[in-house]
Amino acid sequence: MPSEPGPAAPGATPDDAGPEARLHARLAEVEARIAAQRRLVDDIVGVVRDENVDDEHDPEGATLAWERQQAAALAAEAAVERDELVAALDRVAAGTYGVCAVCGRQIPTGRLEVRPAATRCVEHAG
Ligand SMILES: [Zn+2]
Repeated sequence: MPSEPGPAAPGATPDDAGPEARLHARLAEVEARIAAQRRLVDDIVGVVRDENVDDEHDPEGATLAWERQQAAALAAEAAVERDELVAALDRVAAGTYGVCAVCGRQIPTGRLEVRPAATRCVEHAG
C-alpha cells in the first residue's frame, strides 16, 4: 500500500479510539436515551392529566398507562447500563478494564466493541 499515510501508531487510528473514548461515546448515547424516555414519561403523564383520562375505564387511558410503564422501564434499563459504563470507566482508570472477572484473561476486543461494559469473557458470560 504505497499511499498509506505515515506510520500508524497503535491505538491512534480513528477506528480504534480506545476503550475510554468508546465508553464515553456509549455513555452519551445512554444518557440521551434516559433523557428521551423520561421526557416521554412526563409527556404521557401530562396527557393523562390534561385529558383527565380514567385509567381503569377509558381504554385510551389504559394504553397511556401501559406506554408510561414501558417508557419508565426503558429509562430504568438504560440507567442500569449507564451504571455499568461508569463502572467500566472506573476500571479503565484502575487499569483493570477488559479483564474477565472470572478467569482473569483479557476479554477479546471484538466483544468489548459490542459490549464495552462487559466484565466477563464470552466463555464466562451469563
Ligand atoms: Zn473468563
